[in-house]
Amino acid sequence: MNKLKSISVLLFVLVSSGCFPSNDLAKQEVLLQGKTMGTTYNIKVVIGEENAQVDIKGMHQGIDDLLVQLNQEMSTYIKDSELSRFNQSNGLTPVKISAGLDRVITEAIRLGQLSKGKLDITVGPLVNLWGFGPEFRPETIPSDQLLETTRQRVGLDKLVLQNGMLNKLNPDLYVDLSTIAKGYGVDIVAEYIEQQGIENYLVEIGGEMRLKGFKHTGELWHVAIEKPVTIERAVQQIIVPKDNAVATSGDYRNYYEVDGQRFSHIIDPATGKPINHKLVSVTVIHPFSMTADGLSTAMMVMGEAQALAFAEQHDLAAYFIVKTENGFVEQSTVKFMQYLK
Ligand code: FAD
Repeated sequence: MNKLKSISVLLFVLVSSGCFPSNDLAKQEVLLQGKTMGTTYNIKVVIGEENAQVDIKGMHQGIDDLLVQLNQEMSTYIKDSELSRFNQSNGLTPVKISAGLDRVITEAIRLGQLSKGKLDITVGPLVNLWGFGPEFRPETIPSDQLLETTRQRVGLDKLVLQNGMLNKLNPDLYVDLSTIAKGYGVDIVAEYIEQQGIENYLVEIGGEMRLKGFKHTGELWHVAIEKPVTIERAVQQIIVPKDNAVATSGDYRNYYEVDGQRFSHIIDPATGKPINHKLVSVTVIHPFSMTADGLSTAMMVMGEAQALAFAEQHDLAAYFIVKTENGFVEQSTVKFMQYLK
């Protein structure tokens, strides 16, 4: 199942805000595009007099190099990636991991604890069992017995990260960073772009985004949250996230149906099964894309009531779309409201 996915759940919107009138008509927007992590990336950087010396071609190559390195460190789709080798090993001795893997797993463990296990990067064997991992599997429902055996392999308590050393407490443990590494990719690309002297940009990888500053016209960046439907691509809500990252998790693009029942790619570690509730999309705005990415998935697992309470408790800017008999109902935290257009 190594096909290129086009699962962007956020769309760029070409609308004007008129928030900050431009006085520099010489600015221009440069679009850099490419492929990574089974999906695409779109980056817009604003070039003006102050950074006219930037070598765009060299920067594009630098971005590709960063993303190739990321894949080589943390893809479960590459058999000899650093993470795949860790997953394949059955030794229980701690291994030294790269700085990138250290940063991502540290944050994943923190969010796993914060969400009381709803986000669990050891859930990979269950993701694969339900047919959403790197290996193609027939879309059949696993037996209760197979589900139970697979669940024995899952649990953040079986993974230890200390001083850059990663350790399995169960030889069958399998780490899947699909929920958070795309966000990390957005963060490192944004950091790299800033190092090149660019202060106005939009970075998007497979729907996860981070934005800073203004468009070349002097307007703030606008982002559209997609309507959670499979038959068309339509806008549910436009937001103005300012200097932040935006991540959306949903169950309406990546799923299959058996006998009229929908099976989503998001797994509830408590049951070992795909989520089954009325919350269909969660959007989080946060300074870091990796954190927004992980939190949006964690709250998708929680379901509407628990997710809203969690977001308010942790002062998160979060927006929810819930499916009801009367159509979609939107809810957002107080902190999110400042970003609504
Ligand atoms: P998100 O909501 O961000 O995350 C959902 C995903 O997280 C699920 O698909 C599952 O894998 C995992 N998950 C499910 N439940 C939980 C839970 N409770 N806790 C933690 N994690 C959970 N895809 C390809 O087809 N080909 C590739 O070559 C490829 N390479 C990749 C390389 C890397 C480094 C990464 C990170 C991903 C790659 N992918 C690839 C996967 C793909 O691009 C997406 O990351 C994936 O489909 C999930 O993204 P999302 O935004 O849809 O879902």
